[in-house]
Amino acid sequence: MPTYDTEAVVLSRRNAREHDRFYSLYSKELGRIDVYGQGTRRLRSKLSPFLIPGNRIRLMGVRGKKVDRAAGCRLLDTIRDSDRLDQLLARQSVIRLVELSTRRDSSSNGLWEILVEVLNGIHESKTIDDCRALEVRFYLKILSASGYHFELKRCLHCDSEKITHFNPSGGVFCSEHSHSDFYRLSSQQLSDLWNLQENSVTSSLPENRYMKLKELLSPAFEYHFERSAAWADYRLAI
Ligand SMILES: [Zn+2]
Repeated sequence: MPTYDTEAVVLSRRNAREHDRFYSLYSKELGRIDVYGQGTRRLRSKLSPFLIPGNRIRLMGVRGKKVDRAAGCRLLDTIRDSDRLDQLLARQSVIRLVELSTRRDSSSNGLWEILVEVLNGIHESKTIDDCRALEVRFYLKILSASGYHFELKRCLHCDSEKITHFNPSGGVFCSEHSHSDFYRLSSQQLSDLWNLQENSVTSSLPENRYMKLKELLSPAFEYHFERSAAWADYRLAI
């Protein structure tokens, strides 16, 4: 049977049969992969302590006809005792975004690099506000990596720099070319979006500014990545 060996971040897991689980991962070499972990619900499973969502692991997989099987794991990075609650939540949010924005057996250009970068950044963040900035920046990066980079400088219709509105499906607009379903954008929000998307300098976001940006980016994310539940297809594959 063909095997492979790759670095991967565990995105989610789901119980299967009495003793097994399915795992969804994003890997360095193969992009999004799903693997079956036989016996991983058993207390003495050697694999299950490594296959925890948010962990970065080295995975040895065995190709299967319908689904691959996890044959071995080595832990590369996990949550640390010193991590704060906001770091744990940001980590969860990041892996959830990756799961929602990727499809099985496909990869987005550069996604692995930005995923590892954001997980390391979250580890190293000093304050909750730094962590919030990393999370929102990741939203923007994952959209860019998937081909949805926002135009934030000029109205998409007329090139005016007097920006007043944000359209989740694409970019920013002046008041003359805005529609009723666009979001009104304050100058603070515009500059936050611009800085997070275009500057690599670490910044921090207080709660109110973070919430406002998430209000804008959540619909953008849903608009671009709307999809059915991936696990539903999976049940049929077993
Ligand atoms: Zn315009």
